[in-house]
Amino acid sequence: MTSPRATREELERRLATYVGAAAGPPEVGRDPVDGALVRQWCDALDDRNPAYLDEDAARASTHGGLVAPPAMLQAWVLPGISMSRAAADPENRQRELHALFDAQGYTGVVATNCEQAYDRYLRPGDRVTGHTVIESISGEKATGLGSGYFIDTRTTFRDQHGGQVGWMTFRVLKFKPAAPPAAARERAAPPKPRRLRPALGHDNAWWWDGLRCGELLIQRCKSCGQLRHPPRPMCGACQSTQWDTLASGGRGSVYSFVVMHHPQVPGYEYPLVVVLVDLDEGTRLISNLVGVAPGDVHIGMRVEARIEDVDPELALPLFRRETSAGG
Ligand SMILES: [Zn+2]
Repeated sequence: MTSPRATREELERRLATYVGAAAGPPEVGRDPVDGALVRQWCDALDDRNPAYLDEDAARASTHGGLVAPPAMLQAWVLPGISMSRAAADPENRQRELHALFDAQGYTGVVATNCEQAYDRYLRPGDRVTGHTVIESISGEKATGLGSGYFIDTRTTFRDQHGGQVGWMTFRVLKFKPAAPPAAARERAAPPKPRRLRPALGHDNAWWWDGLRCGELLIQRCKSCGQLRHPPRPMCGACQSTQWDTLASGGRGSVYSFVVMHHPQVPGYEYPLVVVLVDLDEGTRLISNLVGVAPGDVHIGMRVEARIEDVDPELALPLFRRETSAGG
C-alpha cells in the first residue's frame, strides 16, 4: 500500500469524492450592481459604450436603460481582500482539494482556461450570487510544467430572483513542478567569464571582422606599400590614408614574450604566455602562445597562428609552435 502506484490510486480515489461538490459557500455579492462601479470598470478599460454610461442614450437604446458590461459578471461577487480568508475557510472544499494535491507533491498551480456566458444584461440594483461546483478532475497528465491534474470548476451566477444570469468555467492545473531542463539550468547559472572585448571602431573593426572570416589581415599603404599593425588610418611613412590589406600566412618568430601569473583576470588561463611575434610579412603582433610550457618558450622560436573561437563572439589568432616549414 506504500508503493507509488498505490498512493496514486488512493489519491485518485479521494479526488473522485470531490467531483460534483460545491467548492464552498455561495459567493454573495457585497453590493448591488451599481453605476459607480460600472464607471470605474469602463474607465479602466477605456470602454465608452453609452449603454453603460449615458442614462439618456441607454434609455433610448434597445436596452431601455443603463446596463452593466457583461464581462463584469464575476466582479459583482468577488470578495476583495477577504478572498484569502474565504479560501482559508476549513469548510472550503476547493481549499481542501488543493491541500490534498500539495501533500502529494503537486504544489504548483496555474490557471489555464476560463470561459463565460451571459444569459441577460445586469442592471443597476440587481444582486448577484455565484454558486461554484467542482465539475471535473482529469487523470494525471504530463505537461510542460510537470505532471499534474486539471481541475474544472463551474460557477453559476443567479440574480435576486434565483434566475440564472450567466456562468463561468475555470480550469487550473495542479502540478508537480518539474526540474528545469538542462538548458534552463545553464541559463540560470552565472555565465563563464569571457576574455576582455576589443574596443572596436571605424579604424580597426575590419581587422576583427577578418578574424571572424578566418583571415589574419595586415594593413598595407596603397601609396607606398608599407605594412602596418595595429590598424590605423594613416601611413606613418608617407601619410597616405589610402590602404588595402593582405592576408598573413600567420607564421613568424617570437620577438619577445612574458609569462603572466598575476594579476589573474577572469576569462584567461594562467600562467598566460603573451608573445610579441615578428610575422614573416614584417609586422609585429601581440597574442598568446598556447600548447607550449612557459619554460620552453624562447626568443626566436618559430610559431604559427591558428584562428580560434575563444568564445562564441570572439576569434583570436593564437600561436603554437610551428609544425612544418612554411613559405
Ligand atoms: Zn605609405
